[in-house]
Amino acid sequence: GKILAHRYQLIEKIGGGGMAEVYRAFDQLAKRDVAIKILRQEFVHEDDFIKRFQREAESIATLSHDNVVTIYDVGEEDDLYYIVMEYIEGHTLKQLIQKEGKLSLERSLDIAKKIASALNHAHQHHIIHRDIKPQNILVGENGEVKVSDFGIARTLSSATITHTGSVLGSVHYLSPEQAKGGFTDEKTDLYSLGIVLYEMLTGKLPFSGDSPITVALKHLQENFDYPRDLNPEIPQSVENIILKALEKDPTKRYQSAEEMLYDLETALDPERIDEPRIQLQ
Ligand code: ATP
Ligand code: MG
Ligand code: MG
Repeated sequence: GKILAHRYQLIEKIGGGGMAEVYRAFDQLAKRDVAIKILRQEFVHEDDFIKRFQREAESIATLSHDNVVTIYDVGEEDDLYYIVMEYIEGHTLKQLIQKEGKLSLERSLDIAKKIASALNHAHQHHIIHRDIKPQNILVGENGEVKVSDFGIARTLSSATITHTGSVLGSVHYLSPEQAKGGFTDEKTDLYSLGIVLYEMLTGKLPFSGDSPITVALKHLQENFDYPRDLNPEIPQSVENIILKALEKDPTKRYQSAEEMLYDLETALDPERIDEPRIQLQ
């Protein structure tokens, strides 16, 4: 078959990570722009990667939510494994933070709520993202926020970390349980969202260092600067959300995306905004 070649006209490469390359393309049948994610050529004979790629497609296809990128088509032809999805014109959250520095309180909360809402939906469908980071959050021109790049498994993330320098950044968003290669559940995504919220509000990462190992160890052992010491405009209620998401012990963290979403939605309520700082365990 030559569906890919006939139906979709590739326009430009728009991204690529450890596992795939992403192109903007024009769907000549549906007459719309699409994004096509294609499994890297070096992996098309590796069953692990093919399975992972297919599972990623299944994960997104299971979900139907305003803040999850919509999948249109998935397939394989002539050793080309591809996922066709809606094209989001805009930036990744990473590019946005690089361009604008820290984001306003209102904007940060709006984006965090939308990510939490997407995670709540995914978790209800027993799908754990495991790779929440600004590079995987698409922010459209009209303010739409879409979580993409679903379903990285532990086995693959450890493989990709050594594969190419371009994915080393992901170690900044790893939960402590991911950093030590232990058991992970939904709460791993809430920790990563806590890091993303910290970064949006302060323009800084809570943990950084010269090597991935250094950063991983910090997730496990070290405290971070209080966000309010870096940006006094952050209300205590919002700092508390970060503190609770960044609990190293998953049993002390938010227990669900729904719980975190509720706190994000009510953080600016007058009776909550000046609540006392929660104690770091
Ligand atoms: P990673 O190594 O981070 O897991 P990946 O190879 O799995 O990356 P994606 O994160 O899915 O690939 O996509 C890579 C980049 O392509 C994104 O960071 C983004 O810039 C761009 N991109 C992906 N999907 C879309 C989309 N639907 N619309 C617009 N841009 C997109
Ligand atoms: Mg990605
Ligand atoms: Mg990925």
